[in-house]
Amino acid sequence: MPKMTGPEGRVLETDGPITVKEVLRKWKTAKGAVAAVVNGVAVDLESTLVGDAEVIPIEGDSPRGLEILRHSASHLMAQAVKRLYTGTRLGIGPAIEEGFYYDMEIPAQIGEDDLAAIEKEMRRISKENLPVTREVLSRQEAEKLFAERDEAYKLELISELEGDTITVYRQGEFVDLCRGPHVANTSVLKHFRLLSIAGAYWRGDEKNKMLTRIYGTAFGTKEALEEHINRIEEAKKRDHRKLGRELDLFSIQPEAPGFPFFHPKGMVVINKLVDFWRKEHIRRGYCEIRTPLILDRDLWIRSGHWDHYRENMYFTEIDERPFAIKPMNCPGGMLVYKSQIRSYRDLPLRMAELGTVHRHERSGVLHGLMRVRSFTQDDAHLYVTPEQIKEEILGIMDLVRHIYTDVFGFSYRVELSTRPEKAMGDPKMWEMAEQALQGALEEAGVTFRINPGDGAFYGPKIDFHLEDCIGRTWQCGTIQLDFQMPEKFDISYIGPDGAQHRPVMLHRTVYGSLERFLGILIEHFAGAFPYWLAPVQVRLVPVSEDHREYAEKVSERLKEMDVRVDIDPRDEKLGKRIRDAQLQKVPFMIVAGDREVETRTVAVRDRTKGDLGSMSLEGFLEILTTCFDPLR
Ligand SMILES: [Zn+2]
Ligand SMILES: [Zn+2]
Repeated sequence: MPKMTGPEGRVLETDGPITVKEVLRKWKTAKGAVAAVVNGVAVDLESTLVGDAEVIPIEGDSPRGLEILRHSASHLMAQAVKRLYTGTRLGIGPAIEEGFYYDMEIPAQIGEDDLAAIEKEMRRISKENLPVTREVLSRQEAEKLFAERDEAYKLELISELEGDTITVYRQGEFVDLCRGPHVANTSVLKHFRLLSIAGAYWRGDEKNKMLTRIYGTAFGTKEALEEHINRIEEAKKRDHRKLGRELDLFSIQPEAPGFPFFHPKGMVVINKLVDFWRKEHIRRGYCEIRTPLILDRDLWIRSGHWDHYRENMYFTEIDERPFAIKPMNCPGGMLVYKSQIRSYRDLPLRMAELGTVHRHERSGVLHGLMRVRSFTQDDAHLYVTPEQIKEEILGIMDLVRHIYTDVFGFSYRVELSTRPEKAMGDPKMWEMAEQALQGALEEAGVTFRINPGDGAFYGPKIDFHLEDCIGRTWQCGTIQLDFQMPEKFDISYIGPDGAQHRPVMLHRTVYGSLERFLGILIEHFAGAFPYWLAPVQVRLVPVSEDHREYAEKVSERLKEMDVRVDIDPRDEKLGKRIRDAQLQKVPFMIVAGDREVETRTVAVRDRTKGDLGSMSLEGFLEILTTCFDPLR
């Protein structure tokens, strides 16, 4: 008798073939399951089991379950589009990170306004209760089926598939070429939303036809869907590209795709970030270097970048000699290390560099400040003895915690990535390094996740993912141990024994890059930078021309105290100027009218607390000194 084994020691003996669904029902694990893993392979609930099997249900709200829900929702959407737009041809429709899409050739111009109608049709199909069934066809049968349906793209995909049989999924009149698994019935799909529409070349190749891509998402519950939609709405409001324009922080121009321009206000924020970074690093025993943007190509051959990273690099020539624009700061840093003989007394040597690097990214993936082709890393390379690794990692982790939590108020999560299969170097070194990293994490009392085999080929690493106020995570800081680069560049230090020894190298960043960190901050604070970062800290609004001279005087006094202040000089109505100062998210606004001029006071409005009333200028300065500022 075939024997089924399941979660928590469940067992079931059957006297003949049985479907997965029946097994789960008997175990009372069917509720919420959208598919199951049978002997390690994900299958439909309706698939039939014949021999012994291990059956694990896939819950709709698990990551794998969500993927199946979303992929099924993409079929549902394609079916709806085909019903509404006769002659639609199907491309591909996968589940993606937070939803799904389907690329289709639709014989009509459609836009975001049409998504509601498609969604409505999807709801109708969901209510039609159509069973979703799997069929295995021969290659000829499949070719005939899709030829009859005029699905040219599917025929192209079939021609590339290997094997004699091809699986398709059917729901009502709709058929799709698909490996599955899928939910068992269209009625399972209830909580979905179509989000946006875009053009996409068939197979991502611009020589091919441009298809219409519709994005959507689906969840197991109404609450989860709503939470996700709210987050998208919130993220849209905070989009750093929109706020960057409104607050006049930066721009991206057609003359330089992927290379941002920073405007005066954006530069204030960047410079404050840098000032703070520098102060904190000096305090923690770092020195600072700067290395060239352009270096001899041979250096990149030696470093291994030529072999592994050439595709992403830019090259140039000077006096007929080949050069490369640096994509990383490490090789330049190495040359500084090698510029003199180092002793064990110099170690640990912590060399920081705000290094601007250039990396080629495809134009399709560029995104505001988050994905660019040129950025400045807050890099540092630490040269240490093997015994110093742990202590130095503890030091870096304390720096990271201080900057993320104390200064910016972010929570973050930590991941340790260990030795990958194609690792280079001595396994003993790897073991020691992994132990040092893990030991440091444990000693620091940090909870962390291990990603086995996810380290770089030259050493294990720790990544820091910070969480912004709407729950999105961003990988920013990283600590990477490197045994390879010191070998390749043959760097050494003289030990107490008078002999040459090889130092271990640590690469690390905290912000990650200034550009991306600024983008994250803009979205995290929704443009309302904390006082110490705000491009303009105080805006003066004189009620009329008569009060202007007094406003100038107040401004002079504030500038003497290093406060960043400006005066709204326009002739506009007072109400409009006050609203504009609010839209610009200036932390403090001072309105100066007759009363203030007469009594030599200022009427202060706090961005968050509202009206603070009238006070003496000295009283206001006192308030400013209580604002958080890590630079003081
Ligand atoms: Zn499919
Ligand atoms: Zn490096």
